[in-house]
Amino acid sequence: MKARRVAFLDLAQQDARLRKALRTAVERVLASGQYVLGEEVDALEQELAHYTAARFAIGCGSGTDALILALLASGVGPGDEVLVPGLSFFASAGTPALLGARPVFVDVDPVTLHVDAARAVARGARCQRLKAAIAVHLYGAPVARGVRDALEAGCGVPLLEDAAQALGARDDAGHPLGATARLVAFSFYPTKNLGAAGEAGLVTCHDAATAERLRRLRNHGAGADGRHREVGWNARLDAIQAAILRVKLPHLDAWNEARRAHARDYTARLAAAGAGLAGTPPEAHPLPLTTPAGEAGVAHQYVVRVPGDRRAALRAHLRERGIETAVYYPLGLHLQPCFAALGYRPGDLPETERATREVLSLPVHPSLTEADREYVVAGLVDYFKRG
Ligand SMILES: *Cc1c(COP(=O)(O)O)cnc(C)c1O
Repeated sequence: MKARRVAFLDLAQQDARLRKALRTAVERVLASGQYVLGEEVDALEQELAHYTAARFAIGCGSGTDALILALLASGVGPGDEVLVPGLSFFASAGTPALLGARPVFVDVDPVTLHVDAARAVARGARCQRLKAAIAVHLYGAPVARGVRDALEAGCGVPLLEDAAQALGARDDAGHPLGATARLVAFSFYPTKNLGAAGEAGLVTCHDAATAERLRRLRNHGAGADGRHREVGWNARLDAIQAAILRVKLPHLDAWNEARRAHARDYTARLAAAGAGLAGTPPEAHPLPLTTPAGEAGVAHQYVVRVPGDRRAALRAHLRERGIETAVYYPLGLHLQPCFAALGYRPGDLPETERATREVLSLPVHPSLTEADREYVVAGLVDYFKRG
């Protein structure tokens, strides 16, 4: 087979198609001299409030800032407890810890890899100072409405949604993720489905007083009268990033649809190939996690599970063929060394730990071609056929 390369990400290629419009937008900001907040940020906030069906959208410096803002708006502070799923990007747990709160880790559902609501409610009941729970729309797949409702009702604390990977996703009632949720954090880190050319983030909410407070907090807590009634920090959004995001936002739905189409195609090809893998036990086949049922999701990742300690060898096999893959995430948050003092041990969150051994992300960026997908699946099949 001819040597090919299937990159995991293709940011420069995607941006090249918009180069002219991006340059015009950046030049508009340079001509204005308004580099932080201002008109571009106001306009982006309005466009994103509309897109997410939230009443208010507050731009900020990153998805991490967005989580900190949402936690502060929920009253989380030193000594409080926050429920966090064991499987997520570090920031989901790092942000409560930075505020002096204690992340209380909850195992994930073995099928969706979203936080397990029943376990969260049981664990929350044993907390003394539970202040909030975080649900993560992992891999761009929306957490089911029933799970979110069960978490909020069962835990009796505000639910924060980490939708850093899921802008554009709709919940099972067909609503965009900002439509009903109290507080949702989004990220525009360059690798996310809508990426800036640097750092940027957003919080959405529906309560006017909360929106005002978030706007103050992102600017050191300064009120309109210049007085600081509480301490904030610099979580402001750059105008250049806002201008760039405004150029890209109209393309997001098409990019997300391309990702979903890639995901559907992978799943169909894997299913077809599975039947042909004579001699290998079915439980050893790679299992797609992002199923076609994830139509409402945005396929931020296309994840397969590779059972039985074969992931490293499979990755090496694919790498030899020029196919890049990634592992999100290789370690449960409860086992990160910085949380050692919280006393978690291997075995405490079994489904999270099994996922960290098995998950493998295949390339699913919008510019992937059919030949790329065919080549990736051929690489997988080839590996499993060898036994
Ligand atoms: C990317 C990400 C974040 C953090 O966003 P940044 O913009 O990188 O600060 C938080 N949570 C999840 C789940 C993420 O994927």
